[in-house]
Amino acid sequence: MPATAQPRTPVYWKIHDTTRAQPPVVNPGPAPDAPQPAPSDAIVLFDGDNLDAWEHPDGESASWTLRENYVEVDTGRGDIRTKEAFGDVQLHLEWMTNPSVTGSGQGRGNSGVFLMGTYEVQVLDSYENPTYPDGQAAALYGQYPPLANATRPPGEWQTYDIVFRRPHFDKDGSVVTPARVTVYHNGVLVQDRVGLTGPTAHHDRPPYEEHAARLPLRLQDHGDGAVRYRNIWLRELE
Ligand code: MG
Repeated sequence: MPATAQPRTPVYWKIHDTTRAQPPVVNPGPAPDAPQPAPSDAIVLFDGDNLDAWEHPDGESASWTLRENYVEVDTGRGDIRTKEAFGDVQLHLEWMTNPSVTGSGQGRGNSGVFLMGTYEVQVLDSYENPTYPDGQAAALYGQYPPLANATRPPGEWQTYDIVFRRPHFDKDGSVVTPARVTVYHNGVLVQDRVGLTGPTAHHDRPPYEEHAARLPLRLQDHGDGAVRYRNIWLRELE
């Protein structure tokens, strides 16, 4: 059955189910020449100059490697997160995997964008690099494969435009509305307001745990070399 005809809801599928169809490959066109300018009401989290808006989860200054107009994951140094906390957001960021390809599957250019530090939009070199569909680039990790594989080749800049609506909890901590996520990958709609089952995790779909209305955005050091980010900004939606 083609991916577009299969049910999307995670309940139909084992986590990291390899019997799920691979999403169709879509060529998104050439990478933009320059970073997409931030709108006037955006909070700019990284414009290429410095990592002042970021820290490691232990509170240490963010020490990933600054290059000309981008930052590179400093493998082994650990994740970085924003100092500020956010709830509902429109998030734009640009990423690139290592032009010199090493590894395969989940070990090729793995990183991730963790909304509220909890809900991962996967970053991976998914250009001619098959892996389980709910773990490829632009997957909501372990839950929703993207509607299409719009990944550009390694060494080219790629964009994510994400609309994230946080989960809401009742007074007793139960979920009233789940987190909802829409993602455009290189301008291609790949997640259409999907409702998450809870936090994303490896080989696990843990239930929601009540958390604050605002939490930091986190970027993952998965241990894979030379994943790069540039031009990170967001607009608050609440
Ligand atoms: Mg990841």
